[in-house]
Amino acid sequence: MNQSNKKNICVIGSGFAGLSAATHLSNEGNNVYLLEKNSTNGGRARKFSSKGFTFDMGPSWYWMPDVIEKYFKTFGKEVHEYFDLIRLDPSYKVFFSKEDIIDIPASYEKVKELFEEHEEGSSKKLDMFLAQAKYKYDTGINNLVHKPSLSITEFFEYEILNGLFKMDIFKSMHSHIRKYFTNEKLIKLLEFPILFLGATSKTSPALYSLMNYADIKLGTWYPKGGMYKLVEAMVALAKEKGVKIYNNQEVVSFNYTNNSISHVLTTKSTFEADYVVCGADYNHIDQNVLEKKYRNYSTSYWSKRILAPSSLLFYVGLNKKLKNVKHHCLFFDKDFENHSKEIYEVPRWPSDPLFYASFSSKTDKGCAPKNCENMVLLIPIAPDIEDNKLIREKYFALIMARLEKLTRQPIKDSIIYKKSYCIRDFKKDYNSFKGNAYGLANTLFQTAIFNPSIKNKKLNNLFFCGQLTVPGPGVPPSIISGGVVAKEIKKKIKN
Ligand SMILES: Cc1cc2nc3c(=O)[nH]c(=O)nc-3n(C[C@H](O)[C@H](O)[C@H](O)COP(=O)(O)OP(=O)(O)OC[C@H]3O[C@@H](n4cnc5c(N)ncnc54)[C@H](O)[C@@H]3O)c2cc1C
Repeated sequence: MNQSNKKNICVIGSGFAGLSAATHLSNEGNNVYLLEKNSTNGGRARKFSSKGFTFDMGPSWYWMPDVIEKYFKTFGKEVHEYFDLIRLDPSYKVFFSKEDIIDIPASYEKVKELFEEHEEGSSKKLDMFLAQAKYKYDTGINNLVHKPSLSITEFFEYEILNGLFKMDIFKSMHSHIRKYFTNEKLIKLLEFPILFLGATSKTSPALYSLMNYADIKLGTWYPKGGMYKLVEAMVALAKEKGVKIYNNQEVVSFNYTNNSISHVLTTKSTFEADYVVCGADYNHIDQNVLEKKYRNYSTSYWSKRILAPSSLLFYVGLNKKLKNVKHHCLFFDKDFENHSKEIYEVPRWPSDPLFYASFSSKTDKGCAPKNCENMVLLIPIAPDIEDNKLIREKYFALIMARLEKLTRQPIKDSIIYKKSYCIRDFKKDYNSFKGNAYGLANTLFQTAIFNPSIKNKKLNNLFFCGQLTVPGPGVPPSIISGGVVAKEIKKKIKN
């Protein structure tokens, strides 16, 4: 790039999307300033340590390793230069009841045996189901998710139109899975990955069986040292490529000239900008930071969006090792239909929630002191419901009682560290819209061109990335999202 084309670009927010956008744009030779409100980077994927325990605060499932490998390869790097990846086996453990517990093996052959044990003939059906899911994964992850989704015409490609039928866009995951399988437990297992998309199987297009391919075929991985290793790797790469990161700098307003942003104002400084990329929560910048006349969407548009759930989390340190648990444990011993109604249809605190527990010290000794265990508990909840200490404690007691019963051991008395995290914290720490944890639900009408646009319609130089725009929530999509926006800006700079 010649000097005249070298642009000043401000990227807001150092989550995966912001880090990815900043690194791509700096790699093109631009001056990139990454402005982050918090003192540490990684956004929802930050970590903290206390009393010898280390906790990943957000994501704990490392899925789609190919997407992350591809990201580093773009810059001539390999994942293993930054951290060691461990394939978890079993991938995870599912508690259907005290007596009914399943480990999901890493080996596909063993997964097939497990299916066959539950439903005769289902292993053959799984082959067929996953062959189709692979097609969706290959087309989706290598092609569709990289579309900026600014116009429907982007999707008028022979390959896409030809394969449209096979992509199952207009069929629900709910009916798709039931076409192949009848066993209730197998159905629950296949519906689980949809939770990552923040929607239910009834509202998710069957396109997302690609997540089953990611789960069963590509596997569940763990970066030794914790998920934060990925953040550290992306930060190191960003700096190597010349990105200047400014922490404790919350973006509070903009200066405008000729339908463009000319300066980005933070709590501490002012940055000149030829382009601005918002990797912070889209709604926050759109509704609270932009001048009203430049907003992309109205308040009523935002209030109609279906959000993925928020979460009530507990980061717990135990002074003993636990039995009968694995790195990832899903507690599916309650009715999911009811819980999902209380998230999406009649938002309220769940009467009998499903929950998830992670024990990364089962894989990684470094996460807890000797002979201790670290435990993260997560209950998916509706966004923007009342959040106070009393409610948090009520739910802690409720799931601890279930955890003790289902894993057949006393746990409460071994707690030596505990911290909760919920809606109020998401809002305070990340300016999160309604305290959401995972962005927008991936329903059909919140996919691709139906998502909030990556481009501001009124300002020539403002773009958005991250989990509230395309392609959607999750670590791999957020990384991809940064790349999609960087490509659009690159095109604009060239013209
Ligand atoms: C509890 C939890 C568990 C999850 N589990 C998984 C999982 O297992 N696997 C998976 O793939 N995904 C998971 N996810 C989802 C995944 O973590 C997110 O989709 C992804 O991290 C979002 O990245 P992002 O860059 O879009 O946003 P964020 O991570 O939210 O980054 C946005 C950044 O912008 C900053 N910011 C906000 N406002 C401003 C401002 N005004 N000025 C400057 N900076 C600002 C914020 O501080 C933040 O650092 C989980 C999320 C949560 C919360």
